[in-house]
Amino acid sequence: MAVINRIGDLSAEMTTWRRALHENPELGFECHETAAFVAQKLREFGVDSIEEGIAKTGIVAIINGQKPGPTIGLRADMDALPMQEESGVEYASKNDGKMHACGHDGHTTMLLGAAKYLAETRNFSGRVALLFQPAEEGGGGGEVMCQEGVMDRFDIQEVYAIHNAPEVPVGKFETCVGPNMAAVDSFDIFIKGTGGHAAMPHETADPIMTAVALAQGIQSIVSRNHKATDDLVVSVTQIHAGTADNIIPDTAYINGTVRTFAKDVQAMVMKRLEELCSGYSSAYGVHAKLVYHKGYPATINHAAQTAKAAEVARSIVGEANVDAEASRIMAAEDFAYMLEERPGAYLHLGQGMGAQVHHPAYVFNDEILPIGASFFARLVENSQPLT
Ligand SMILES: [Zn+2]
Ligand SMILES: [Zn+2]
Repeated sequence: MAVINRIGDLSAEMTTWRRALHENPELGFECHETAAFVAQKLREFGVDSIEEGIAKTGIVAIINGQKPGPTIGLRADMDALPMQEESGVEYASKNDGKMHACGHDGHTTMLLGAAKYLAETRNFSGRVALLFQPAEEGGGGGEVMCQEGVMDRFDIQEVYAIHNAPEVPVGKFETCVGPNMAAVDSFDIFIKGTGGHAAMPHETADPIMTAVALAQGIQSIVSRNHKATDDLVVSVTQIHAGTADNIIPDTAYINGTVRTFAKDVQAMVMKRLEELCSGYSSAYGVHAKLVYHKGYPATINHAAQTAKAAEVARSIVGEANVDAEASRIMAAEDFAYMLEERPGAYLHLGQGMGAQVHHPAYVFNDEILPIGASFFARLVENSQPLT
């Protein structure tokens, strides 16, 4: 593989950084130690400016090229997950109940590797903005960084990010133009009926019967309100009600997830859920209250930037290892907010067989560190050449 030689030389050093981050996972916006580690490294590399404390523990660092020009943004996430590590690696998490099970330690390290090379060589015009964000796994650290105005303040014109992908061959890039990751929302439905003795159901308004009928009615959104060739998930994932075999309870609770790629589909699902709640309420004499929570929006890759990123990936891993028309994924990504503000692209980078992300046995493959770092570095050099 044609990783940049100087970055290949950094492989062992990058592995040390990655494992140090892995041992000390932090959650959400509380990435204090992680951010301190990142800022310390960036200072050692001699980047031109470092602004800390963005979105609480996020960092934006700037590296100037040798000539004036635009600013390209490269983003890495820094946060871990609230779970107990069972990977068996010797550098496993030292923080009980916290684990880098999504490989954000690897993403942070790739961007640090690129930063070291770019600060040393500066074979580009314009500037690079290195965006290290907290709270990707819920909380929307990327959204908060956008709300705090990083795109305008640092005059960023384009943004790029990578995520590791288990089960995809080592070094294989996958991406696609348009929606790449889904908008992920959730809903709660609180059903208030009238409970009573199970022997006298005619004197009750049964919330359990409503919950079951409503859960089935919700399945008609995908099967009857939505075009069959488009992607949509609406799943009921929890129903809770009742305490005993001789009591019809007063209330029932439904919870579920909605995954969409287009805002008009999301709006249709919200409208149908409202209609179903009100329709079943009238039909069964109860009150079903919908609370809809919008999560991260869909991650939508821009055509020109995706083509450019795929070309850079080909120069590193070869034509056969880049799929620029890969299938989209029903999970969500906080980088979506950055792509709503600036054109750019999000790519997956294969790391080989092994446990999936968010599994306690997940292990990030350090082999892909120089590949990811080379991708970031070459993207800068190709996007903003000196000549
Ligand atoms: Zn994750
Ligand atoms: Zn992740």
